[in-house]
Amino acid sequence: MAVRPSPYLDELNPAQRDAVERLDGPVLMLAGAGTGKTKALTTRIAHLLNTARARPNEILSVTFTNKAAREMKERVGRLLGQPAEGMPWLGTFHSICVKLLRRHAELVDLKSNFTILDTDDQLRLLKQLVQAANIDDKRWPARMLLGIIDDWKNRALTPDKVPAADAGAYDSKGIELYAQYQTRLRELNAVDFGDLLLHMVTIFQGHQDVLEQYQRWFRYILVDEYQDTNIAQYLWLRLLAGGHKNICCVGDDDQSIYGWRGAEVGNILRFEKDFPGAYVVRLEQNYRSTPHILAAASNVIRGNENRLGKELWTEAEEGHKVNLIGHWDGEEEARWIGEEIDAMQGGTRGIRPMNLDEIAILVRASHQMRAFEDRFLTIGLPYKVIGGPRFYERMEIRDAMAYFRLVVSPEDDLAFERIVNTPKRGLGDKAQQTIQMTARENGVSLVEGARIAVDNVLIKGKGGKALRELIDGLARWNAMTRGPRIEVDDDSVIDDGSLMRFGAPEHTHIELAQIILDESGYTAHWQNDKTPEAPGRLENLKELVNQLDNFENLQGFLEHVSLVMDNEQDSDGAKVSIMTLHAAKGLEFPAVFLPGWEDGLFPSQRSMDESGLKGLEEERRLAYVGITRAEEVCTISFAANRRVFGQWQNSMPSRFIDELPEDHVEVLTPPGLYGGGQPAAGIETRAAEANVYNSPGWRRMQARQGQYGMSQPRESRNTVIDATAVASFTLGERVFHQKFGYGAVVGIEGDKVEVEFDKAGTKKVVSRFLTNKDD
Ligand code: ATP
Ligand code: MG
Repeated sequence: MAVRPSPYLDELNPAQRDAVERLDGPVLMLAGAGTGKTKALTTRIAHLLNTARARPNEILSVTFTNKAAREMKERVGRLLGQPAEGMPWLGTFHSICVKLLRRHAELVDLKSNFTILDTDDQLRLLKQLVQAANIDDKRWPARMLLGIIDDWKNRALTPDKVPAADAGAYDSKGIELYAQYQTRLRELNAVDFGDLLLHMVTIFQGHQDVLEQYQRWFRYILVDEYQDTNIAQYLWLRLLAGGHKNICCVGDDDQSIYGWRGAEVGNILRFEKDFPGAYVVRLEQNYRSTPHILAAASNVIRGNENRLGKELWTEAEEGHKVNLIGHWDGEEEARWIGEEIDAMQGGTRGIRPMNLDEIAILVRASHQMRAFEDRFLTIGLPYKVIGGPRFYERMEIRDAMAYFRLVVSPEDDLAFERIVNTPKRGLGDKAQQTIQMTARENGVSLVEGARIAVDNVLIKGKGGKALRELIDGLARWNAMTRGPRIEVDDDSVIDDGSLMRFGAPEHTHIELAQIILDESGYTAHWQNDKTPEAPGRLENLKELVNQLDNFENLQGFLEHVSLVMDNEQDSDGAKVSIMTLHAAKGLEFPAVFLPGWEDGLFPSQRSMDESGLKGLEEERRLAYVGITRAEEVCTISFAANRRVFGQWQNSMPSRFIDELPEDHVEVLTPPGLYGGGQPAAGIETRAAEANVYNSPGWRRMQARQGQYGMSQPRESRNTVIDATAVASFTLGERVFHQKFGYGAVVGIEGDKVEVEFDKAGTKKVVSRFLTNKDD
């Protein structure tokens, strides 16, 4: 057969090329971020195909996410100059194992049409078992058992293999319950996620013939992100590669960030022992980032004791230093980043003009996303959240908002329908139909209809009682939006009389929001929910309440949300990406924002409280992953204050900021607009407490106090929301609208202004959403 040209090899450096051309035998590529590991791995697949060493279905290649798998397939196609057809075994561990397990399910007493349980199902099942075993699930929550079992599965331990040392787990009943759980799963013809690998390892270990069949079939094995494999995945790979040993693994010990999910960085360090004579390639040239970015990342990761240690270099032009900027609070941080991104599209501060899809924001915790989403929706900056729904589309946020809507406007029937039986109040379809009918017959809102139905005992029993409580609650909360009625002479009433007849409410709207969520039983609903998602949902609810501080009342907040949510994001077109640091692994972007670098947030509080360095070192690796995603511009920021339940909490800049090398960092001044210049008092206090005045970071901060100072809250932080006075506009005046941009006034009608917008056409808008732009 004629040798086909392989032009793709010319794109590689000698070390990469070596790793690609050495097709047989074990190969380990152990190298830092951006050195072209994934590129080499992809090229290797292309080369295997191009040289006819293997057919597409004889190559097993494992990536970490489905997104990564899709990208790899595309890249192979590009290298070969034709679409990569039929690579059935290119995917994640789980997607590959599902396929294999369906073929051999009977070997572990399952049928091939087994179902895969999600975490909710898993927990329900475990709860039943825990109850049957008479275990006090207050002391021993089923969720805890779930964690223990997952951990055993990650370590490839079937119930009979759990070591004696673990016998005390879960009130000494852990192992027994694990065995029962596995039995139940079999009865249900079901598996959980961990089983997919565990069963395959069991099958390979117990059935030599099956194993050998696949050892022959998968002639070449390739694994990306090897540092994040767990023991079960490792064993599975080792078994499959055991015959021909044509296995190529690539990874970076400095990027091991899934230890909390059972990943063992030891797997990568053990490779040479497992596969004696392995060819080890070390790549040192980084092709992704500028020298400044690389230096910053290298300096941070140097703080870890447990690492192999490798140096990276680059030929790239020096480029921009890593930006560092402090903000007054999280909202200011989001506001600044929004404005910065806006400016970046046209080119700013020497940075070339960038498209939105060249820009990413990487957060440590997903609740940080809210501030950005909110801000971007307000200013109409297109964005996408990778790996999760947008904040206001989350179930718990929609539920909470429905309560708020109903309190503010009791006629909001849609909101009522959403929450009437959330949390469960024992109101089934029939009861809800009764409410609907009663409301229709009387020509009133659903809330009113419900009241009539309850008064006339049309809905009885537990449901009726719960409904009565809800209706009473809604009336009570509604009354709490106002203060006591004040008797006034008619002539003291200006403009809108209704507002003037009430004193200040007893509770702030932030307190009221909390009262609504608590008294309605909604908070408890999630507190009692033991699914792994529940804590995140509670965090999101907290974040929602936090955010109210930006508004004068619930009404203002609801208006804001409907305004921003109405701001439809067109589906095509470039968008800024928002995602967690964990989800960003393996990706790269020309410009990266890394917000929230504060002790307690990043590194996380939990990692700081932990004894030993393990957690903290994993956080530092996460910082390394974050910085090394950036190609040209990397901007790190922190806020001096974050609001928790409407209360200010001071925060210290992250200890990782101290680890950034001064020569490669440029401290940005928040623009005058932000009233920069003065350091936030909060930081000083905390700094004194923590005695950090001698830390290099603090000294640096002092030395540059003038520039480094945190932004102060703006005079009118929420021009959109709390501009109270109705501004007067004149015909022809230039104005700016948060959603529609710039335009000219063409008509005025009370508090509504007709504007001919430059881009959005002619629209009638409420005047307080407009600002004058003539000056
Ligand atoms: P990470 O550890 O973050 O996963 P990686 O080692 O997998 O990084 P890649 O994503 O493969 O790195 O490559 C980083 C960037 O460098 C990519 O844009 C890639 O196209 C480019 N690159 C890799 N090798 C070369 C090379 N030899 N010449 C030019 N560019 C290269
Ligand atoms: Mg990679």
